[in-house]
Amino acid sequence: MILDPFGIDTTHCLIGGEWAPCKSGETLALHDPSDGSPLCAIARGDAPDIDCAVAAADMAMEGEWGRMAAAQRGRILHRIGLLVGENIEPLARLEAQDVGKPLKQARADVIALARYMEFYAGAADKIHGATIPYLDGYTVYTLREPHGVTGHIIPWNYPMQIIGRSVGAALAMGNACVLKPAEEACLTALAFGELARQAGLPAGALNIVPGQGGEAGAALAAHPGVRHLSFTGSVAVGRRIQAAAAENLVPVTLELGGKSPQLVFADADIDAALPFLVNAGIQNAGQTCSASSRILVHESRFDEVVRAMAERYRALRAGPALADFDLGPLVSARQKSIVEGYLDKGRDLTVAARGTIDGDAPAGGAYVAPVLFTGAAPDHVLAQDEIFGPVQVVIPFADEAEALAIANGTPFGLVASVWTADGARQMRLARALRAGQVFLNNYGAGGGVELPFGGTGLSGHGREKGFEALYGFSTLKTVAALHG
Ligand code: ADP
Repeated sequence: MILDPFGIDTTHCLIGGEWAPCKSGETLALHDPSDGSPLCAIARGDAPDIDCAVAAADMAMEGEWGRMAAAQRGRILHRIGLLVGENIEPLARLEAQDVGKPLKQARADVIALARYMEFYAGAADKIHGATIPYLDGYTVYTLREPHGVTGHIIPWNYPMQIIGRSVGAALAMGNACVLKPAEEACLTALAFGELARQAGLPAGALNIVPGQGGEAGAALAAHPGVRHLSFTGSVAVGRRIQAAAAENLVPVTLELGGKSPQLVFADADIDAALPFLVNAGIQNAGQTCSASSRILVHESRFDEVVRAMAERYRALRAGPALADFDLGPLVSARQKSIVEGYLDKGRDLTVAARGTIDGDAPAGGAYVAPVLFTGAAPDHVLAQDEIFGPVQVVIPFADEAEALAIANGTPFGLVASVWTADGARQMRLARALRAGQVFLNNYGAGGGVELPFGGTGLSGHGREKGFEALYGFSTLKTVAALHG
């Protein structure tokens, strides 16, 4: 299929600035999760294609891209961002069809991608080294340098946002990227590659090889020519990526999701909290690394919060992505059966409320109505596992110590939020919560391109977004000159 209006063949890879089929010529089928119908075919890249992509990236580092002034890199990123911004509608429609995201959420992702490009365009020439006072007769300074070829393995839930935060930051620092999109979600990655080419990104600075995780993905993770790996996805695959990185002794950034809590204290402004409590659970049908799947509420306000959340849940509707309901389908029938498996494990809990699936939603779509549970002990599987579906549990607590113990009582640590007017409590908990981001009287802060993001424990390590990402995508060289 030719990707409209980008004019590229969906079965092609982008290597060295050229679009071409993968070496085997094999393809994988993409399906529209809104009705299960075949969408198009994509390349089934594998190790030989990854070899070519790494070689092309290497050549880019040796050539024009590697020598380019930081300000010029910034200008190119800026142009990419402008082109993305000129294509909000076609990109959003592609994403909606490919991953089942409701149109308004897909549009927000395109805008976030454009914003990442804008942010990293501006940052490209603002990261610099230092001079260090040293012994008499010496001048010592540091240089921030790109790693070289960087590997980016991304998931299907937010392809555009993750391209923005990962590839955007890596390019800003002057690395040459090899991107392996998820097999379920390639189309906006391919479109992005074409827009980057049109914006004047030199050949080989961004290479895109679609394919399966165990094939193209594993080959990229293990490739000795790759000098840094960034991965967003499951804990199980994250372990494999880190093991592969260990073989080549290269740094790795892992963002592996979470079980993020919101803590609602007795003095919280419940009306202000409500939209955040619910949206953080059902946005993108719960298929969000930073989804808030645990709502911890002081026992004095528990019934009130459950009642108010339940009312919102009952109004939620899931339906085809292009029809733009509150929720689309899940990304695939496989993901739907994983989530339904969890709903089954919640049979001993109380369903406080359930949303609905629109009556006209096609039977072949991967729809799951959102479910709000109560009655889960903090160690219940639904309060411990990352479900990656529209499922939240509400758990009562008696005091701050218990709230903290429950909040920190999972192996994850990505995001947390605290709803309270008590400033001292806010400060205490901001320090004590095990999370890479803590929000006070809000959740998610509107995307937060500028805000360092990443986790601890099973949520992974390393930081993306903001300026911090630029340190991760570069290395520091110390130069010591003895001149007398
Ligand atoms: P999910 O379970 O949400 O699909 P995964 O962690 O399986 O998330 O996938 C995230 C990304 O990792 C995808 O691009 C996928 O192709 C890739 N991937 C899966 N398995 C491997 C692997 N063994 N090596 C490298 N990449 C992989």
